[in-house]
Amino acid sequence: MKITVGCAFWPALVLATMLAVPGHLHGAPDAKEAEHYERLPADEIQCLLCPRACVIKPNDVGYCRVRRNVKGKLISLVYAKPCSLNIDPIEKKPLYHFLPGTPTLSLATVGCNLRCVFCQNWSISQAEPGTVRTQLLMPEQIVAQAQKEGCPSISFTYSEPTVFYEYMFDTAFLAKQHGIRNTAITCGYINPKPLKKLCQVIDATHVDLKGFSDKTYRLVAGAKFHPLLETLMIYKSQGVWLEVGYLVIPTVNDSREEIKAMCEWVATNLGPDVPVHFLRFFPQHKLTRLPPTPVKTLVQAAALAKTAGIRYVYLGNVPGHEYNSTFCHSCGKLLILRRGYFIEEFHLKDGCCEYCGQKIPGVWK
Ligand code: SF4
Repeated sequence: MKITVGCAFWPALVLATMLAVPGHLHGAPDAKEAEHYERLPADEIQCLLCPRACVIKPNDVGYCRVRRNVKGKLISLVYAKPCSLNIDPIEKKPLYHFLPGTPTLSLATVGCNLRCVFCQNWSISQAEPGTVRTQLLMPEQIVAQAQKEGCPSISFTYSEPTVFYEYMFDTAFLAKQHGIRNTAITCGYINPKPLKKLCQVIDATHVDLKGFSDKTYRLVAGAKFHPLLETLMIYKSQGVWLEVGYLVIPTVNDSREEIKAMCEWVATNLGPDVPVHFLRFFPQHKLTRLPPTPVKTLVQAAALAKTAGIRYVYLGNVPGHEYNSTFCHSCGKLLILRRGYFIEEFHLKDGCCEYCGQKIPGVWK
């Protein structure tokens, strides 16, 4: 089994084992019916979970590979079948303004509804069910494990949680009943209706942008761009704590115009308190011909974000940089000093700056 201790933020590291949790002995949900689809003539199905709107013939699967048409019913092939389960610092997601310094139980199944050519977790996101070892773990077992390990949150991460929607929803619903919070680390490629339902059980999200234009999305992710804007607006309007990531890829999406457009859109539509993380690209998967992003480019991107009015700007995959830390947007003092995944100094009291008393946006306890 695999533990993936990476995400879009840190290069993926796939280990040889999985967190030991007793597996479920009976009731394998091989026929878990999926939500959000409609039946068509001749036993065809249209999946309405994400903007791809796959029309699926009997016995076929959708683009994400994990939702199958079985005799006119849409079946999730990955319900309760995580391929990755691990305890991470919440900073690794990355979420910097949500329960800092706490562990989060992180899980993924195989599958994704994008085809990013730079994917760091391609070995699970692009895998088909049955080709990667999994363990049968029902939502109640995941929640029990989070309690046992003292994790105040569960994170749906590594691959794309949209495609294991039913497993994510049921687990998050149960977790909430036990006082455990939930985070979705996602590309955001989901339709408004299922997203609004999901927002009832998700407390925080990190939405990873692959660029800020239709051209970039079609080029590197095989997807449309505009659904992402609606996703971001919905998360914000539903009161889910939101942080935005932007993977800066040399020559692909690193132009001043594209980054400036993203920053201005975020500041105008989501507000200045939504943190933005600029993530350093490293050659991966099918995109090995490009060099890693120069740190200078990331610093320039951060400057554009500040100019647009975004108050909390971070650099990812650049360990030791001052933009890993949090500074008060009012007095400018250092509030949270981070080294890698760990917090070395913390100067917030009841969610406010210890020095000037400014309320700092986030979920602090
Ligand atoms: S979730 Fe999967 S099956 Fe459904 S529309 Fe998206 S890619 Fe297609």
